[in-house]
Amino acid sequence: MILPGIGEAGQRAIAAAHVAVVGCGALGCGVLDQLARAGVGTLTVIDRDVIEWSNLQRQTLFDQADAEAGTPKAIASAKRIASINSNIRVVPLVSDLTPENAEALLWHAATPTVLLDGTDNLHTRYLLNDIAVKQGIPLVYGGVIARRGMQMTIRPGSTPCLRCVFPEPGDNAELETCETAGVLGAAVGIVTSLQAAAVIDLLVGWQPDRPATLTEFDLETGRFRTIGLSALAAPEQRAGCICCGQQRYEFLSGLRSRGTVTLCGRGAFQIPARESRIDLGVLAGNVARVAPVRANEFFVRITPRNGVELTVFADARAVIRGVANEGEARALYDRFVGA
Ligand SMILES: [Zn+2]
Repeated sequence: MILPGIGEAGQRAIAAAHVAVVGCGALGCGVLDQLARAGVGTLTVIDRDVIEWSNLQRQTLFDQADAEAGTPKAIASAKRIASINSNIRVVPLVSDLTPENAEALLWHAATPTVLLDGTDNLHTRYLLNDIAVKQGIPLVYGGVIARRGMQMTIRPGSTPCLRCVFPEPGDNAELETCETAGVLGAAVGIVTSLQAAAVIDLLVGWQPDRPATLTEFDLETGRFRTIGLSALAAPEQRAGCICCGQQRYEFLSGLRSRGTVTLCGRGAFQIPARESRIDLGVLAGNVARVAPVRANEFFVRITPRNGVELTVFADARAVIRGVANEGEARALYDRFVGA
């Protein structure tokens, strides 16, 4: 409250806000920690995955007990946030954000004041961009890989959107090699601080007319720079953007479908959710006759052979680890869960 630009009115605005955080990996963890401590009144956490040992190096809301239990990230982060600041409301949603469910999930707790991109996959990022532009809600984007990171804030109507800057997912090269390049935890910390600062600026209305910029850095060379995006914000430039210029929401409409997704990290594949839910208890019972299985209220984990693991959620979504390709992942899914 002492800081210029925040004060009592700003702190009240922060408490009244609802920030929807999509992805609770490295970026989501760091931002959620800061937003919880800043007193953001309502936090929605949407994440589809469970905690693994290798996450602990950079995913700061989780601990060894979480990795041991394989707890869903949304659930573990909600518990941790409640222990940081019990005055705020946290809504954990263990789910994959898809064109079909995105608006229902993001609006589940309340209309979001700000959308926060903590994801590691391109389709979800472009889906979020479509929703932000369509609904006129600010989106705080961040990305990190190896020792490099970037951050950009999208204020629909006044700054360029993600597709103005990177028209196609493939143009956003910093995201493509997460698995092979690794991520330095310290680089994550820089991006999440930039993202958290951007969220708070939006919530308190600090410098609303600041020109659009993209900040990027590389800790290998020590270079930090802020690129002005004002040229892209010009009306004649924006008119050429499929998303914010022409209002064609290709990712939200499902036109750009993704099918099976390769997850970031250690050769994992995801089979998307289905229309109908499955009974995890029945599945665990069936599978137990043919393969080692572990079950809890959130998922059934099947270990068909050493090093291969199939985690099935109630919405029939599954994450398969330890297989060589998409076909093998799909085959295992069909074998244990059914086509
Ligand atoms: Zn645009």
